[in-house]
Parts: sequence; structure tokens; C-alpha cells
Amino acid sequence: MIENEFGSTDTVNEIRDRLLTWFAKHQRPFPWRTTYRPYHVWIAEVMAQQTQMERVVLYFQRWVEQFPDVEAVASAPEQKILKAWEGLGYYTRARNIHRTALYLVSSRGGEIPSDYQQLLALPGIGPYTAAAILSIAFNQPYPLIDANVERIFSRLADIDSPLKNAATRKQLTTMAGTLLDREHPRDFNQALMELGALVCTPKKPVCADCPLRMQCRAHRADTVEFRPLPTARGKKIDIVMACCILHKDDRIFIQQRLPDDIWGSLWEFPGGRLKEGESPVEGALREIREETGWQIKQLNFLATVTHFYTRYRVTLHGFHGILHPSCPKPVLTAASQYAWVTLSQLSQYPFPAGHRQLVDILCA
Ligand code: SF4
Repeated sequence: MIENEFGSTDTVNEIRDRLLTWFAKHQRPFPWRTTYRPYHVWIAEVMAQQTQMERVVLYFQRWVEQFPDVEAVASAPEQKILKAWEGLGYYTRARNIHRTALYLVSSRGGEIPSDYQQLLALPGIGPYTAAAILSIAFNQPYPLIDANVERIFSRLADIDSPLKNAATRKQLTTMAGTLLDREHPRDFNQALMELGALVCTPKKPVCADCPLRMQCRAHRADTVEFRPLPTARGKKIDIVMACCILHKDDRIFIQQRLPDDIWGSLWEFPGGRLKEGESPVEGALREIREETGWQIKQLNFLATVTHFYTRYRVTLHGFHGILHPSCPKPVLTAASQYAWVTLSQLSQYPFPAGHRQLVDILCA
């Protein structure tokens, strides 16, 4: 049963546990992570906007040597602040830090607020930075959504619409709220961002090293390279797939897709996307092996069909295969259940468009 955007509460708990365990082992030793002083987190967060982390670490260390606390920032002339910021660009950020420090010293005894609205009232602190300071410095349960998190979510949930869409943005916000570990918001938020920076990278994500690969729908559906979906309109993305209609006596094997997959709960023949350099036959044989555990030696070509979706052109190569009457039960890895049906019964089951075309060809 689908309870939330990630599938079920169990899946959510598993994602949290796996992320936190991974973070404990793989987090980078950033200097502000030793004490999580609010002043340090604030400065690091502002520096990290538009800047690579290696540079942030360098500038952060120099900054806190010169300005060890809010009072030191407030008492420095603006020119000194700008000099320390030199090379980071977007100097409004430095000026805002200075203005904020002056205010904090004159009105709050140099203390950084631990309240969302009070933080938002400070110069240069918007919703993201406020949530970052509250969760990372004060360990308060505020979700964070940056580009890393958006990318991970789009892959975890296999989101098939551009991230800029209003509905998708809403979905991402809901996901962030659902997934947030309210007992460990500091580590959880950093773990997500760290995973996006080190493993679930924009290009060539290292899925083999990812603690979430079992929970990742894009990984399961082999759509990682298309997530997040680019905003640009125009040329369709080509996808080539192969599948096999497996016969045993007068029955045909079909399986029902997992409910949280793309085309969730529809029925299909075992198959999937071809890997690079793979022929359609090789791809179909591999998919049968992976999805059912059956080793088939020979396939016969049935037909190739093409189907257009909003952003994709899917070419599906269909084959026939014969199973021995005494073949073992399938070991399902990509389906929730299976059925052996006659040719005439096929029309009673809902199939995705490409498989439906093959069913029509079969029945004709
Ligand atoms: S399995 Fe791959 S795509 Fe999915 S979250 Fe992990 S790294 Fe990202």
C-alpha cells in the first residue's frame, strides 16, 4: 500500500537509518562540524551559497581566525570584512553579515536567535539559511531543500516532471517534510546534502556505493540518467527496451509492477531498458534472469513497437520464449505478483502502452 511519496512508513524509516549510518562513516570533516557553534554554521552557510565547498573551507578558516565571534565581526570596519571576503564574490553577503553582527551585538548581546521568524528578520537570512541554522546549529526539525536534495528526491521517487513545475515543487516540499528525521535533524539534513555532493551527483551518480539504492525507484526503473527531468522542451529522449512473452504449455507469464514504480500496478511481460552495447536479445535474456531467475537459452523475435510519451520515445523489442513445463516458480524482483494466463485472458489485464501494442499483435 502506498502511504506516502516514498511508498510506506517502513521505507521512510529505512531511508533515514541508512542515511544516518552512511553519514556517520562518510561525512567530510568540515571545521564547523566540530562544535556546530551557531556563529560558525551561519558563516559557513552564507559562504556556501554559490561557492564550492573546498573554497568555503579555506575562506571559513581564515574568517574565524580574523573574526572568532559575532562581536569581532561587529567591531571590524566594513573594509576589513570585504577584504576577508575578497574572491568569494556576491559581496552583499559580506555586508549583510556585518549588518547582522552589528544588530546582534547592539540588541541581543551577540547571540544568534534560535527562532525561525527572528532569524528571517535578519539581513541576508532567507528561509533556507534560517532552516539551515536552526537544524544544523540548534538541531531543530526544519527540513532543508537545496539542489542536492531536489536531485536525490527526484531520483528516489522517480519524478517524471521538471523540478520547476509548481506541482513538483509542492511534491518536493511534502517529501522533505515526510522524510525529515525529527529526532536527528542536524545529521539527517547534512547527510542528505552530503549524499548529493559525494554519491548522488548530477552526472554519473555512484549508485553502486549508495546506501539508498534499494529504496531508489529511479535506480530500480533504470531511469537515473533522466532524473531530474530537464526543463528544456523539444527533442524527445530515446529509450530502447526489450521484453519477452514467456510461454509454458498454453499459458503466458505476466507480472504486476510494484505499486510505487512508474506505471505502478500495471501488468507487463518481463523486460526493461537495454544497457549500453547490449543487443535487444541480450537485454531481454538478462531482464528475464534478473526479474524472474529463469535462464532461457533462445528467444524468437515477435515485433518492435514504438510509443511516444510527453518527453520520451520508447522503442520496445518484443520476443517469444518457451519455458519447460517443469520450470521452477519465478523469483520476482521487479513485480508484486505474477499470473499464468491464456491468450484470450490477456485483454483483461491493464498493460502500459508498449506492452499493450505487443498484446494486440499477439492476439491478432
Ligand atoms: S541509487 Fe543512485 S540515483 Fe538513487 S539515490 Fe542512490 S545514487 Fe542517487
